[in-house]
Amino acid sequence: MTDTLDIKSSLKQFFGFDEFKLDQERIISTLLSGKNTFVIMPTGGGKSLCYQLPALMSEGTAIVISPLIALMKDQVDAIRSYSKDDSIAHFLNSSLNKGQIKQVKADLSDGKTKLLYVAPETLTKEENIEFFKTLKISFVAVDEAHCISEWGHDFRPEYRRIKLMIDAIKSEIPIIALTATATPKVQSDIVKNLGMEKGDIFKSSFNRTNLFYEIRPKLNNDQAQKSIVQFIRTKPGQSGIVYVLSRKSTEEVAKVLQVNGINAHAYHAGLDQKTRVRVQDQFLMQDIDVIVATIAFGMGIDKPDVRFVIHYDIAKSLENYYQETGRAGRDGLDGTCIAFYSYKDILKLEKFHKDKPVSERELHGQLMEEVVAYSETGACRRKAILHYFGEEFDEEGCNKMCDNCKNPKERIEAKDDIAIALKSVQALKEKFTIKPLIDFIRGNKTREMEDFGYLSNEIFGAGKDKEDIFWHSVIRNAMLHGLLRKEIEEYGVLKITSSGHAFIKKPTSLKIPISNDYSSVTDADIVTSGSAAGGALDEELFSLLMDLRKSESKKKNVQPWVIFQEPSLRDMATFYPISVEDMLNISGVSQGKANRYGLPFISLIKEYVIKNDIERPEDLVVKQMANKSKNKVAIIQGIDRKLPFDDIASTVKMDVDKLLQEMNVIVDSGTKLDIDYYLEELIDEEVMEEIFDYFGEAESESIETAFAELKDDDITMEEIQVARIKFMTVHAN
Ligand SMILES: [Zn+2]
Repeated sequence: MTDTLDIKSSLKQFFGFDEFKLDQERIISTLLSGKNTFVIMPTGGGKSLCYQLPALMSEGTAIVISPLIALMKDQVDAIRSYSKDDSIAHFLNSSLNKGQIKQVKADLSDGKTKLLYVAPETLTKEENIEFFKTLKISFVAVDEAHCISEWGHDFRPEYRRIKLMIDAIKSEIPIIALTATATPKVQSDIVKNLGMEKGDIFKSSFNRTNLFYEIRPKLNNDQAQKSIVQFIRTKPGQSGIVYVLSRKSTEEVAKVLQVNGINAHAYHAGLDQKTRVRVQDQFLMQDIDVIVATIAFGMGIDKPDVRFVIHYDIAKSLENYYQETGRAGRDGLDGTCIAFYSYKDILKLEKFHKDKPVSERELHGQLMEEVVAYSETGACRRKAILHYFGEEFDEEGCNKMCDNCKNPKERIEAKDDIAIALKSVQALKEKFTIKPLIDFIRGNKTREMEDFGYLSNEIFGAGKDKEDIFWHSVIRNAMLHGLLRKEIEEYGVLKITSSGHAFIKKPTSLKIPISNDYSSVTDADIVTSGSAAGGALDEELFSLLMDLRKSESKKKNVQPWVIFQEPSLRDMATFYPISVEDMLNISGVSQGKANRYGLPFISLIKEYVIKNDIERPEDLVVKQMANKSKNKVAIIQGIDRKLPFDDIASTVKMDVDKLLQEMNVIVDSGTKLDIDYYLEELIDEEVMEEIFDYFGEAESESIETAFAELKDDDITMEEIQVARIKFMTVHAN
């Protein structure tokens, strides 16, 4: 037996600390007393000390099973740094050569080694088991124990055999299992699998009080990308991670951020090792602010000052979401976690799994259901996450650190509706999951309802006047209030708790927030967390700008649209650019155009903003990467290199006609194209002059209108397109 004094003085002696964190001390004394110990502690809580210290204090060697071979060397180095002798800690895995293995085994046999890190695969080898039998093993630590459970986010089948292996070495070796994620499901899986029913469980709170959780609807990729740019611009120079699902979108989103002046880089498993290491290092050194990554990023990276984590695609499970958002704010300062959610993305994920075995599909379906419920809830996000991890939480404690607490949803009296839901669970004999339950409540005559003979039940259809999403809310809230619970073992079948039975007998008042229906949300509903939402056209300013354009066109003797086209004026009346730099963010305005025509517009807007005391939607100006921007760049480069149009057309896989159209789009958006080198090939000088004359007086920039006017003079569409490129380059840009 070891007393408290010993543990504390050992902490000082081996690690130089004076105090333990959280439950560390109780955990260590439990393990040292020979009891199985299960530790559930969020990342950063000091998990590894819970086995390192007792290993150093005990006689013999502790075996540490860890799935992260890549990190074993670091872990071993860390322990060695506290000791004068390297033999104090070793690892044994496939990365060692024969000579190294021999040395490790010699140190173990000599009793010099206190900690031996192994991969589960090492344990499955018969010769290793035979060797371990000859040693004195103090205990076995199973790190990242959630790998045991298929419900965990990191399932590793070989983890399932660990208990067998330990028993083969010697029964009655104490086990300590550690994990940073444990929903009740994962937890019961670990306990069962390692035979730890009689052990002590230590569970620290998973509440990350400094993280702000927010879900934003994702209408489409464009809107989500804009929204991300807007958000990141409010955090200049700060570190952040944007998580996406596919390699392709890491590149795409990173590019959008770069185009908008954000120091971002893509990261995914498809990059070569060198690039990955470099990107990680640059992120750690703050040479890169934002990483756009698949979930491959972040494992084993400990950057304390990540200020935001954005999910461009929703996470595959709440565990993943918690792990990934958990990378924000490790230094205890604020971290913002924004996830973009659309039900369409969920359906896309489901498609990935449609060819998988039924059990896997069901498992995945349930994990997704939790994500949907979390995303759509109108209640406190923090309460929902912690509930998922089996923790009771009073939303008062959220301190408005989630979107729903900050801007509370309308709450309605749901006493009667909850009673209907509970009675329906009862009528279905507690044998169904949420979906069929809602079918029953709403009176949907599904095959299932018919087969089980529920159509004639007296409360079948009792809630038909309310939408599915409403009943989802009611049922979720009944669970959050402990009236219903999901049966872990039976794929999420709903059961009534004793409080639920009491409620049925005597319903009491219960006000619940109603879920957001993200399927019907429109652009106007988006409220960004920063300043006032932008996006609305200022009609008054717009008409002032139109007038100015008219007078400027007279002064300069050009058509108004040559100065700025109407969409550009609309943009200006939305985003209030007050400098040449701002102007460049307006669509269709190039540097040249801004310099040539911008100033009077800028001073008008400035004056207008001051006079009307307008709060400009700063950071709301987002340059969008032009669609097919690759083609655009190829065309501009081709013209710079004075290539024949046929060659350019074949590079971008277009016919010449389409190419001319594209080039007109390019000059319309403010980029000059100097095509003089090729003009002779395409157009006679007289024809060109005629077209120039036309555009010099025309009221519209339209090519079709021009063709209609000029075709009687035997002028072709192609000639008009060519001449217009030249005209716009000379006069408008
Ligand atoms: Zn909250």
